[in-house]
Amino acid sequence: MMNGRSENNSDITEIYKELEAELASINPGCDACGTCCHFDKFDHILYASTVETNYILENVEAPHFDPDKNVCPFLANNQCTIREYRTLGCRVFFCNPDYKEKYQDIYNKYYTMIKDLAMRNQTEWHYAPMMKVLKDS
Ligand code: SF4
Ligand code: SF4
Repeated sequence: MMNGRSENNSDITEIYKELEAELASINPGCDACGTCCHFDKFDHILYASTVETNYILENVEAPHFDPDKNVCPFLANNQCTIREYRTLGCRVFFCNPDYKEKYQDIYNKYYTMIKDLAMRNQTEWHYAPMMKVLKDS
């Protein structure tokens, strides 16, 4: 029996494309400094679903990491090494305070699309802090 993972891959690429187009029209601004990927310093918890982490792990190899450190393992020299595959939360989060009100609505819209995708393809669905989901994968 197929686990639905491969069906998810092309669909999530399309979902991310639609999201990027929507964000481009809003343009919240980001200089890709990598500060928000230091979850400890930024007081930020990045949540992700298994659909999103599977998409990463099927395309890149996860480095060994210490889950107690609370820094994204894909950050190297303050740069995201997996930009093409990064999670919904990575894509939607911006530190721009003027964007805060829009953030939640956009997140919810795309979260629902990703969850619907998992249901449609009968894929395992688990949603938790990304560091935990990665550690358990
Ligand atoms: S995946 Fe990339 S953008 Fe997301 S937290 Fe990690 S380094 Fe930052
Ligand atoms: S959202 Fe802000 S903190 Fe995060 S990488 Fe962009 S500019 Fe840096």
